[in-house]
Amino acid sequence: MIIVMKHHAPDEYIQAVVDKIRAAGLSEHVSRGTERTIIGAVGDERVFSPDAFELMPGVERAMRVVKDYRIVSREVHPADSVVQVRGQAFGGQAIQIIAGPAAVETAEQMAQCAELVKAGACRLLRGGAFKPRTSPYAFPGIGVAGLEQLRQESRRHGLPMVSELLDVRMLETFLELDVDMIEIGARNMQNVGLLKEVGRINKPVILKRGPAATLTEWLMAAEHIAAGGNHNIIFCERGVRSFEPSYRNMLDLSSIPVLKRETHLPVIVDPSHAGGKAWMVSSLAKAAIAAGADGLMLDIHPDPANAWCDGEQALNPQAFRQLLDELAPLAAALGRSLA
Ligand code: PEP
Ligand code: MN
Repeated sequence: MIIVMKHHAPDEYIQAVVDKIRAAGLSEHVSRGTERTIIGAVGDERVFSPDAFELMPGVERAMRVVKDYRIVSREVHPADSVVQVRGQAFGGQAIQIIAGPAAVETAEQMAQCAELVKAGACRLLRGGAFKPRTSPYAFPGIGVAGLEQLRQESRRHGLPMVSELLDVRMLETFLELDVDMIEIGARNMQNVGLLKEVGRINKPVILKRGPAATLTEWLMAAEHIAAGGNHNIIFCERGVRSFEPSYRNMLDLSSIPVLKRETHLPVIVDPSHAGGKAWMVSSLAKAAIAAGADGLMLDIHPDPANAWCDGEQALNPQAFRQLLDELAPLAAALGRSLA
């Protein structure tokens, strides 16, 4: 912690800051300039928050030296981490594509989606069983039956499964059904209770970015998971709220290089929830890969016009196949490949 004293702060104010630092078991480093004194608190600064000093007389401001995220930061782990999901690696050379329906509807729809995913260069199957709908009257997902159908197709085709956990009370069920990767959705990015619980298990977690979360908040959310012992975390950018109504969210491509610099963990992008329109998905997906994303999560549907949830943004089979065909040479040009 660095504490900057006000212009010509008297010695007794400086001493009070020093006393507070010592009382917490840290030591001080006082640098007296001609106009201002700057005091460094040396030791584990986590015992203080900056306002503990900023509220003291004579203090202009206080700031942390180290970040509020450590385990997830590149500072402590410079090399890229590779997260394994039932044999599929995220964060390595290969670009991983997760695809499937926004919501599991019927056994037949799930089976059709799984076949499409299996036929393409996608190695993981998504499917929403519990949907966090904005309207309380919208279709909320078919619940446990949806997880069971997802699981059936996952195991039939050897595609690890991904599904969103909305409520900590369902965690046991997710574990019993052996969901391979747990998605924490945008609306729950700062649900600390949920983050802590998924931090205690050893299943990989996809942590989506909150619709208005800063990158630091997102990194700290990941740290909540990591602090419990689960370091198998994948960040998923899905766009943030903006002033522009012609797309659902504004895909923040800039977050990809920033995150790749700040954290060793893999970063993927969900262009479906960003654009919110199927016709945008291909452009956004390519831009994400070009910007350095380690993978994508795509909404697909055999018949988007009749989807029960998010049909507007779902790729139909033909558009899905075309996108995969176009992504392969792009990945190659970047020295990567589709998994
Ligand atoms: C989803 O992946 O189905 C979803 C609800 O996404 P988000 O949390 O990004 O809105
Ligand atoms: Mn959705």
